[in-house]
Amino acid sequence: MRIEHRLAVCMLVALSACGTQEDTTPTSELSERTPAVGAQLQSAIATATTSLDGARIINADSEPGNWLAHGRTYDEQRHSPLQDINTDTVADLDLAWHWDTGTTRGLEATPIVVDGVMFTTGPWSVVWAHDAKTGALIWEYDPAVPREYGKYACCDVVNRGAAAWKGRVYVGTIDGRLVALNAATGAVDWEVQTTDPERPYTITGAPRIIKDKVIIGNGGAEYGVRGYITAYDATTGAEQWRFYTVPGDPSLPFESPAMEMAAKTWRAGSSRWWEVGGGGTVWDSMAFDPDLNLLYIGVGNGSPWNRYIRSPGGGDNLFLSSMLAINPDNGTLVWHYQTTPGDTWDYTAVQHMILADLQIGGEPRKVIMQAPKNGFFYVLDRTNGELISAEAYVPVTWASHVDQETGRPVENPDAHYANDPQEIRPGPLGGHNWQPMSYSPDTNLVYIPALDLSFVYAQDNAFQYNPEEWNMGIDTSAMIPSKDPDEVIAALQAVRGHLAAWDPVSQREVWRVQHATTWNGGLLSTAGNLIFQGLADGRFAAFKADSGELVWEFPANVGIMAAPVTYAVDGEQYVAVAAGWGGAFGLTSGVPRHRDNVMAEGRILAFKLGGNAELPEPQVTHINIPQPPDMRTTPEQLAHGELLYHRYCALCHGPGLLQSTAGIADLRYSTPEIHASWDAIVRGGAFAGRGMASFAHVLEPADSEAIRAYVVNQTLGNIALCESEYRRNYPEVLDTACVMPVVSTDAPAP
Ligand code: CA
Repeated sequence: MRIEHRLAVCMLVALSACGTQEDTTPTSELSERTPAVGAQLQSAIATATTSLDGARIINADSEPGNWLAHGRTYDEQRHSPLQDINTDTVADLDLAWHWDTGTTRGLEATPIVVDGVMFTTGPWSVVWAHDAKTGALIWEYDPAVPREYGKYACCDVVNRGAAAWKGRVYVGTIDGRLVALNAATGAVDWEVQTTDPERPYTITGAPRIIKDKVIIGNGGAEYGVRGYITAYDATTGAEQWRFYTVPGDPSLPFESPAMEMAAKTWRAGSSRWWEVGGGGTVWDSMAFDPDLNLLYIGVGNGSPWNRYIRSPGGGDNLFLSSMLAINPDNGTLVWHYQTTPGDTWDYTAVQHMILADLQIGGEPRKVIMQAPKNGFFYVLDRTNGELISAEAYVPVTWASHVDQETGRPVENPDAHYANDPQEIRPGPLGGHNWQPMSYSPDTNLVYIPALDLSFVYAQDNAFQYNPEEWNMGIDTSAMIPSKDPDEVIAALQAVRGHLAAWDPVSQREVWRVQHATTWNGGLLSTAGNLIFQGLADGRFAAFKADSGELVWEFPANVGIMAAPVTYAVDGEQYVAVAAGWGGAFGLTSGVPRHRDNVMAEGRILAFKLGGNAELPEPQVTHINIPQPPDMRTTPEQLAHGELLYHRYCALCHGPGLLQSTAGIADLRYSTPEIHASWDAIVRGGAFAGRGMASFAHVLEPADSEAIRAYVVNQTLGNIALCESEYRRNYPEVLDTACVMPVVSTDAPAP
């Protein structure tokens, strides 16, 4: 049944280091389309943004036409009071404008909208300012991230958004900088390097701003880093404080009492985990309660993943996979709650956290809610971190339940893979990933973009830390797929996700919309009794918030991951979303997507009632898998190539190869020239400038040839499967796996 996890693996993979995809958009081309900003417009933007401060964000409901902060409000509910677009009027919703990003890499950003100006981010940490009414570009800022840095971006060179504050716009860059821009012009005001450039840190998350401090985290735990967040003075960029999430080198002094406490839960034995970094990165979610003066952060997985390698003496390994409450004035820890003690499955707790005041058992409770990767939905008392309740929101096999008395999960013995490989749910992509949820105070429901995926975990008994590679402690041969067509089909069909409406008080699902595939987009709920969600199959859809009934959809022609926002300009309500496929799953997956969507260019789409803009019709050509060159192989060579492929290649090119990737070379389509230059590429580094690094440090010429033999053999197998009756019987899973769509929207087909 290994194959069943092949796709789950891809996704994992997607968590990987695929520096490879080509995004050839040159910096110069981006700047060429930047229009000169008129003095009048500059002055208007300066006026609108200069007054943007904490008081405006706290009172956001008094200006519902704006979307002032990442989650709209500090409690990150992502629910808008706007209701001109509602269940009665939504049939008239149509495209108001679109703006083409010029890139096929993933779009994950939540736009900020201030008085008719929209600030959005894109691949390579580019920032755009648009007229939110017309879509006209006002300015564009490109931080010029060196493209080779993409190899450290486990999950695509994405960015989840900017922050705006007192006349400036802030962005974290893939290469670890925090940049403050003049909101009116896009000119750099200041920038600081927030990470050690010698370590594989990346920033994809949106900064949050609290009381004139810009808070920024980072990522990189798959490669090996030590997690932390830092606060910088919003005006000057001066560092205010830094909070580490896991202890460092035990021979050095502790940075804080929190680290002294955490260090007691790491029992290294023979491990030198601090050299790998320990992990615990804060790469996405934060929330803030101004009354309690608490900043909440979500903490990620361990480096390496495998706890038997990372901390062989046992221990909870605080503060991995935890929600933490921190005093934003000085960066000291107030409370912690660990969702997955001793995490060994990549179960990050960096997922979206929502603050709300709920009636539970007849009592008003100030809660924080999270659906982390581990599959349990947590409701905590946000004043002190006490567990109120936790129930599984997707199928969970690693633990039976969360014990109410201890607040700890009760692990299933079968979830331990130190001796034998184990299939476990959820997998490393989680029951829920970074895609934002929303909470509607009208329905009292939390809406979850849920994933239903498993993974086969196996220990890498030969693990050795290598700063140039992934460092998970996971045996990647467990992701080698079956060659039985029925199992291949079953694996493809098992890739599923859904939109769940979750009652956080009773801890049960009220309704769900089952999606055909997974990695569907983040959520927005509105007072119009609507939920908006972009889908992996290229639709942008609206559902009734109380029932899940589909009430509207729009063919966006590209898979959508990002969360929508809504705002108003001149009295008209808009709904906007950054539509572009990629990210951890999208990069390498071959899951069924709409035949016409794959690799289409990303766009910002804005809708309003009676909108009359139109998207260009995509022109799509589908190319069958070409016959590979003849090659004489031996069973021993194929087996060797298969192992090496899954150790070094599958993390980017996909386990088993049955896929049409979104951005990385699909090796089944390798030309005769590629085959002829194989060793020069694999070991000689001929494509290093495109992100395909040399593997000469781990592969000999015979190894590279064995990998080529495996690729040729798998390609032949794919062609046979695609020409078999399976293609006719399972078009929904094989149609997109058996052809490569080439999309053009520039001109009509000849
Ligand atoms: Ca991870």
